[in-house]
Amino acid sequence: MSAIGIIATIGPVSARAESLTALRAAGMTVARLNGSHNSLAWHRATIELLRRTVPDVPILFDIPGRKIRTTQLVHEPSFKAGETIILTTDTSHDGTLKVPVNFDGLHEQLHADVRLYADDGTLSFIVTEINGRDIYVRAIGDGTLRSRKGINVPEVALGRDLVTDHDRNMVTFAKENGVDYVGISFVESAEHVDAIRTLIGTLTPRIVAKIENQGGLDNLQDVVGAADVIMIDRGDLSVETDVDQVSVFQKKIIGVGQAHGKPVIVATELLHTMIDNPYPTKAEIGDITNAVIDGASLLMLSGETAIGRYPVEAVARLKSVSLVAQGHIVGKVPNVEPANEIARAIRALTTTLPVNKIVVLSRSGYAAGLAAAALVDQPIIAANSDPLVARSFNLIPGVQGVHVPQLAWRDSRSVIESLRVLRDQSILSDEDVVLVVSANLGDDRYYLNSFQTFRVGAVFSHVVNDEQWLATA
Ligand code: ATP
Ligand code: MG
Ligand code: MG
Repeated sequence: MSAIGIIATIGPVSARAESLTALRAAGMTVARLNGSHNSLAWHRATIELLRRTVPDVPILFDIPGRKIRTTQLVHEPSFKAGETIILTTDTSHDGTLKVPVNFDGLHEQLHADVRLYADDGTLSFIVTEINGRDIYVRAIGDGTLRSRKGINVPEVALGRDLVTDHDRNMVTFAKENGVDYVGISFVESAEHVDAIRTLIGTLTPRIVAKIENQGGLDNLQDVVGAADVIMIDRGDLSVETDVDQVSVFQKKIIGVGQAHGKPVIVATELLHTMIDNPYPTKAEIGDITNAVIDGASLLMLSGETAIGRYPVEAVARLKSVSLVAQGHIVGKVPNVEPANEIARAIRALTTTLPVNKIVVLSRSGYAAGLAAAALVDQPIIAANSDPLVARSFNLIPGVQGVHVPQLAWRDSRSVIESLRVLRDQSILSDEDVVLVVSANLGDDRYYLNSFQTFRVGAVFSHVVNDEQWLATA
């Protein structure tokens, strides 16, 4: 079983070459940028910095999408329980008198007595009055409302567009800057994922669907089927649904991800107290341990690495705790059964045959995901003819994406060609015994799945060129 993937959100404290190198050394396997914070110029520069300093690390760029936020404030108001503050959809304000929010029609959809939350639900309010664009709210507790913090109104169905002009601009930005994955907020349907995929129009960036409200839970099977990767954003999910049930939802979502062979990311507050402290709480260690035992593929840090005082320590801690948790799984539950039938077949073959590496010819990443879902001990090498798609495979724990330019799909020569390229790059040696897998996603997923085994040296001692190989095949 390969180590859990670790996603670090890069922010002001970590967007420096030395920090990125240190985060990578501590265990970061994926870098995340949250497009809701900071400027696009900052994100462009940070993407360039990431590519220069940690070129093999896939980049996940979260598109702001369907999340309501406060705008960039000049004054961040503090308040006591019972005090009234004024939110407004008039964005000419700056927080001094009124706090603007970025969803133009919000005032039309609210009324007195509706509950409103801010900052991942850590602040809560009751609407007392609507006056034009102004929303008067009474604070339930003490707090400070800061810039670009999320606003949730779970009691009201806000009826927002699936894809906005803003999404279009952000997808264009993501493509221009060659990010590997885009994170899509508040996904509630396969239709939403498909609309974003159409907008992207190419195989990369690939899509991380964020499950963060009841709609996402209701249509979980469809959303997981349509997306490449799933993220459980426990921040919004806990506010939008029921905070008491969030850990139960986590288990359910991971189960569905496993059944589809899709990686699931667990996000939000894994080491929240390490934003300010060098050591985590026992509860945080318990949470990480349980997320690993639940079957999460990747764990994500947010504020811990974006704005915290101990970003490198947080990544190192996440790694050490998750390794212990994995050791526990391996020791106690030796026969975790993969939920997907192809993954089960891969696992059966790799446990009964003397295979030491798995080579996956993966067009969309689906087959690479299935090999990872098989929880195999062997390293997984996933080949693709597009260098960007190949790099995107590095997000999947245990998978190394490799660019094989000559890979032609559904062509038996592809297998030999891939083995040749991998041997030339010293990724495979003549002694390796490999299982070569290809699998298909979609309606015809029971066709054209193939499993082949080779001893690498034997292939090339008999086969001098493609024509000869075809003659023998
Ligand atoms: P999401 O719902 O996407 O998680 P979020 O507002 O909770 O949105 P996170 O990505 O979880 O944001 O990051 C946690 C906090 O870290 C943010 O609220 C913000 O204060 C800070 N942060 C993250 N990225 C940046 C950045 N690029 N620049 C400045 N601050 C950032
Ligand atoms: Mg969220
Ligand atoms: Mg968050």
